Amino acid sequence: MTRRSALLASLSVLSLHPLLAGAATTTQVPSAEVWPRNSAVPGGIARLDLGPGATRPEAQLGDVPLLVLGDPKQWTALVGIALATAPGSASISVQTRNDGEKKQRIAFTIASKRYVTQKLTVAPGTVDLSNDNQERYERERLHLAGVMATFSEPLPAADKLAMQVPVPGVRSSSFGLRRVFNGQARSPHSGMDIAAAAGTPVKAPLPGRIIDTGNYFFNGNTVWVDHGGGLLSMVCHLSSIQVKLGDMVQKGDVLGAVGSTGRATGPHLHWGVALNRTMVDPALFLAA
Ligand code: ZN
Repeated sequence: MTRRSALLASLSVLSLHPLLAGAATTTQVPSAEVWPRNSAVPGGIARLDLGPGATRPEAQLGDVPLLVLGDPKQWTALVGIALATAPGSASISVQTRNDGEKKQRIAFTIASKRYVTQKLTVAPGTVDLSNDNQERYERERLHLAGVMATFSEPLPAADKLAMQVPVPGVRSSSFGLRRVFNGQARSPHSGMDIAAAAGTPVKAPLPGRIIDTGNYFFNGNTVWVDHGGGLLSMVCHLSSIQVKLGDMVQKGDVLGAVGSTGRATGPHLHWGVALNRTMVDPALFLAA
């Protein structure tokens, strides 16, 4: 056997041996990326394997419905993990229709993640609220809780969850920062800030339906887009809003323009992504 035929022989053995052939293939083809990326930390998203099944299982975290994607070969639950969640063990409940009352628990582990502290100086009236503003904020908080509880169909397509950044610009890795305003600790930063000039068009990160527009005390002019299955986007501090309640938008459609309305230190976009009623890191939906 010549050196060349020996090489060919060994190659044909490789291609015939399923394990070796598989190994050879995976080294040549980069593994397909999925969005959102798995990141089981506070403020992240756990992708939980629910296995195969003829029908889409229903999954819940506590009593909150979860987004379940896939097909009869493989179902996956996407679990948004609140920033305030303590690291450690957690679980979801899963039920298959036509399965009577049988509920299965799927356990997972939430790893810890350290978020640094950011100190900001803003107008005093936006930290120590007047009675009127406190009342306004309480009303808005209840309203926004209702908006965040939206869970609609159709569900988003599993292979179309890579989001478009709403504005080009420098994306700060500001999600999760523990914030101190004028020396007072406040709730952590639950979105991504993107530096952009006032007036820059703000675009829909995914297709969806406009489920809320308004002017809010902290968030300023705000638009919420429902992408289905409890996955929502919010853009804040807009100088103008260019959509109205009930509008259907495509990925890339203009929602409004960058501004500094509400509690903002200057013109920028605050982009929030909610999944199962909790704000998660938008970066998990971005390709890079
Ligand atoms: Zn922000």
